[in-house]
Amino acid sequence: PRMRIDCLSIFPGIIADALKHSIPGRAQANGLLQIHHHDLRTWATDKHSKVDDIPYGGGVGMVFKPEPAMAAIRELRAQGEALVIHPSPAAPRLTQADVIELSGHRHLIFLASRYEGLDQRVIDRCVDREYSIGDYVISGGELACAVMIDAVARMVPGVVAKQASVVEDSFYNGLLDYPHYTRPPVYEDMDVPAVLQSGNHEHIRRWRKREALARTLAHRPDLLEGAELDGEARTMLRE
Ligand code: SAM
Repeated sequence: PRMRIDCLSIFPGIIADALKHSIPGRAQANGLLQIHHHDLRTWATDKHSKVDDIPYGGGVGMVFKPEPAMAAIRELRAQGEALVIHPSPAAPRLTQADVIELSGHRHLIFLASRYEGLDQRVIDRCVDREYSIGDYVISGGELACAVMIDAVARMVPGVVAKQASVVEDSFYNGLLDYPHYTRPPVYEDMDVPAVLQSGNHEHIRRWRKREALARTLAHRPDLLEGAELDGEARTMLRE
């Protein structure tokens, strides 16, 4: 495979189910991507397979204990060089640039925590990267892992057959995507924009670029600050 991924969690089925369909599913079926799902409780040492404990300093909720997570990571890591990722809302937001960088690694280990999170000492000693999937909190890291793995899988060479579809997606070029239309040309009282039916490729290219810029300006002006815009884009923005 181009990439091996190990997922550690207490609900391995959530991640496995989320990734068995469509593009990530096919990437596994054709051998480009090899994903192994592990139950963190396998590495628990007490007879109840406990992976969590009460927080030092008091307060509500439980915390993932260091021993099972550390033992699991060390065992999986022993199989070669691996990058360990822990999804967390208290981390930088994952960007498409991060996803592209991650897709260049040969072995990723994802650790999904729950409750109040993971004992900080595991993060300090064994986790290479922490990323958030957005400014909201979900119940557990499993779906965050699935989101990240899906995004990374799309960028692994050969997984998405038409690379053009990947490089035209939102964020790849620093802009949001332009609007899309399919048949019929008139639906209820709404027309497909005439330019898209004109067959004039230059006009279509410029329309799409202008729409992408307008959407980015409306929804994500922060993206334009960092974007390297060409002269044409700068002129369109001024109009
Ligand atoms: N106490 C944590 C905090 O406020 O930062 C929240 C813990 S959350 C209920 C449980 C787990 O879900 C987290 O440890 C993390 O693995 C995952 N999680 C929740 N929201 C996330 C997000 N936006 N991005 C990535 N992971 C998230």
